[in-house]
Amino acid sequence: MGEPVKTHCPYCALQCGMEIGPELAVRPRTDIPANASGALCQKGWTAGELLTSGERLTTPLLHGEPVEWDVALDHVAGRLAVIRAEHGPDAVAVFGGGGLTNEKAYMLGKFARVALGTSQIDYNGRFCMSSAAAASIRAFGMDRGMPFPVTDLAAADVVLLAGGNVAETMPPLVRHLEGPRLIVVDPRRSPTARLAWLHLQPAPGTDLALALGLLHLVVAENLVDEQYVAARTTGFADVRTSLAEWWPERVERITGVPVHRMRQAVRALAAAANAYVLTGRGVEQQAKGTDTVTAFVNLALALGLPGRAGSGYGCVTGQGNGQGGREHGQKADQLPGYRRIDDPAARAHVAGVWGVPPESLPGAGRSAYELLDALGGPGGPRALLVFGSNPLVSAPAAEHVAARIAALDLLVACDFVLSETAARADVVFPVTQWAEESGTMTNLEGRVLLRNRAVAPPDGVRSDLEVIAGLAARLGHRFATEPAEVFDELRRAGRGGPADYSGITYERIAEEKGVFWPCPEPGHPGTPRPFLDRFAHPDGLAMFVPVRHRPPAEEPDEDYPVHLTTGRVLAHYQSGAQTRRIAPLVQAAPEPFVELHPDLAERLEIAAGDVVRLTSRRGEARAVARISDTIRRDTVFMPFHWEGANRLTNPALDPTSRMPEFKVCAVRVERDS
Ligand code: SF4
Repeated sequence: MGEPVKTHCPYCALQCGMEIGPELAVRPRTDIPANASGALCQKGWTAGELLTSGERLTTPLLHGEPVEWDVALDHVAGRLAVIRAEHGPDAVAVFGGGGLTNEKAYMLGKFARVALGTSQIDYNGRFCMSSAAAASIRAFGMDRGMPFPVTDLAAADVVLLAGGNVAETMPPLVRHLEGPRLIVVDPRRSPTARLAWLHLQPAPGTDLALALGLLHLVVAENLVDEQYVAARTTGFADVRTSLAEWWPERVERITGVPVHRMRQAVRALAAAANAYVLTGRGVEQQAKGTDTVTAFVNLALALGLPGRAGSGYGCVTGQGNGQGGREHGQKADQLPGYRRIDDPAARAHVAGVWGVPPESLPGAGRSAYELLDALGGPGGPRALLVFGSNPLVSAPAAEHVAARIAALDLLVACDFVLSETAARADVVFPVTQWAEESGTMTNLEGRVLLRNRAVAPPDGVRSDLEVIAGLAARLGHRFATEPAEVFDELRRAGRGGPADYSGITYERIAEEKGVFWPCPEPGHPGTPRPFLDRFAHPDGLAMFVPVRHRPPAEEPDEDYPVHLTTGRVLAHYQSGAQTRRIAPLVQAAPEPFVELHPDLAERLEIAAGDVVRLTSRRGEARAVARISDTIRRDTVFMPFHWEGANRLTNPALDPTSRMPEFKVCAVRVERDS
C-alpha cells in the first residue's frame, strides 16, 4: 500500500472521516464536516487494530470445522431448499445489521424477497432508531434522522438533548455542542449531563411525562410560536387540549424533576433565537418510544423549530449505517427508497427493477424481536441467516432468544470474528470488514459517504455481497457483487422514494465529501435541510399528534425493587463483538459493571468492586459494582456491550415501532456470595 486512503470509521453514525496509512494506523481527515476539527474517539483511533486482529476468521466453518467455500455454500443452499420445500418460504429468515453498507443492506432485502421469497427479514436497527424513525414519519411525513448538517448545531443558542450520552458514544459531536447552552434529559448524570448547563434527571421510563410537562409550560407561559404553528403545522388544537392533565406539579411527582427546572428549560428554549431538540436511545428504546419522541417533536413544533434554518428537531442515530440501513429494504415493512412494502406503486417499481412480478414480492414480515421470538416455534422460521449482527448479546430477554436460536434447524452467520452468535452457528462465512471493501454509508445527517477499500482482505475471506450472490446463484438467481454495480441498482430501485439517491455517484461523493439525500437527479445539489420550505406530508405541513404518558411495562415491586437502565461506555461499540477484541479498548473497559448510588449500595451492603448478581423476571447477570452518585437512588445502570445486561431487559414492544423496552425494567440486586 502506498498513499493513505480516505475512508470512514467502522463504528458509529457520525462516520468520522479518517485515512489509513501504509502502516495501518488511522488519522482523522479534516475535510469531513462531522470531525473537521480533527477529532476521533478512542474507538476510531484504534480501528486499525481490527484489521490485524488475531481472532480474524479466514475460512468458512461447518459445525465448527474449517471447510472450502463451495462446501459451505452448497451445504447452506441445500438445507435452505429442503427447509423451504418442507415448511414454505417464510420458514427461512434473514437478520441484517445497521452497520452494513447501503449496498449490502439493499442486496440483503432483494435476496430475502427474490431469492428466498420470504417476508421474514428485519435488522438490528429495529432495536436502535426505529421509534424516532416512526415518530419522524408521523410528524414530518419522512424520516431523515437529523434533517440538517451536524455543524449547524454549533451556532444554536440552546440544544435540548433527551436520552443521549454523546460524550461517550460519539465524542467528536460534542465539539458541535460547545457553543449552545446544553440541556440534557437523562436519569444518570452521565458524562454528557456533566457538560450541561441544565440537567433534568427523570425516573427511568418517565421521559414522556416530562416532555408533556415541558409543553404544558410552553402553553401556560404563552411561549408558543403561534405564527409558525398556524403557517406550518396541523393538529395543535388537539394537543393543546390534551395537555391540560399534565400540569407541572403532577409531572414533578411522576418524574422527580422539579418544576422550577422544567420552567428554566422551556424559558431558555423559547428565548433562544435558534434552538434544537434532539433525541437519543434513552427516550426511544421504550415500549412507548414512538410516543415519547412524538412528545419531544410536539415540543419542538410548538416552539417553531423544525424546518427553520438554524433550528430543528433531530434524532442522534447510533449505528454506523443506522440511517442508510433503514432506507434500502432490509426492514420487515420496507422496500428500497424508504418506501412501504404495502404501497402498490412501490411494489410495482421495485419489482420492475428486480425483473419479477409485483405479486411475487412477499408482504411485511415480523419485526426483529418478534422474529427472534418465533424461531423454531410453531409456524416460525426454521432457518436464520445473520449478517453483521450479534443478537445473542444485543436482543432483549437474551436467554429466551438463545433458546429460540437453539431450536432452529439451521443457523448461518456472516461475520469477520466469532461473535457469540456466530459461535452457535451451524455455518459461519468469514467476511470482509470496513477498510477491506468499498461501499457507501449514510450518516446521522443523511449525508451519503464513501468508504474506500484501503487494504486487501486476508486470503480466504469474501465480502457479504459475494456470500449473498453465491447463495442466490445456487437458488437460481444472478446477483451483482461489485459495490459500484450494486449501488447503481440501488439507485434505480429507490428512484422516486423519499430516500432518492438517483443523482448520487461514487465520484460525486468523493469530490463533494458526501451528498445529502434526497438527490433525485444528476446535477441536483442534494438536500442538507429538506424541511425548510415544506414538510413531506402531502399538504406540506408538520403534524402535531396528541400522546399520553403511561408507566413503563414493568415497574419495581417487592420481588424486583430497583429500576435497571442500560447504555454504553466510551470504549465499546454495540454488542462489543469488535471492540472487545482491541487491546487498548479492553484495557480501558475490561468487564461488565453495574453502577449503584451510595445509598442503595449501603442498604444492600454492597461495596465497590464486589461482584453483584442482578435478577429480573427473564434472567440473571453478574457484574462488578461501581458506586456513584451520578445515578438515582432507585436505579442501577449496566452497559450492554457484554453478555449479561440483555438477559435482564424486557422485550415489551412499542406498538408502532416494535422497539423493545431496553431502557427500563425491574431487577433485584444482591451481593454475589
Ligand atoms: Fe467518530 Fe463514532 Fe468512530 Fe468515534 S466511533 S471515531 S465518534 S465515527
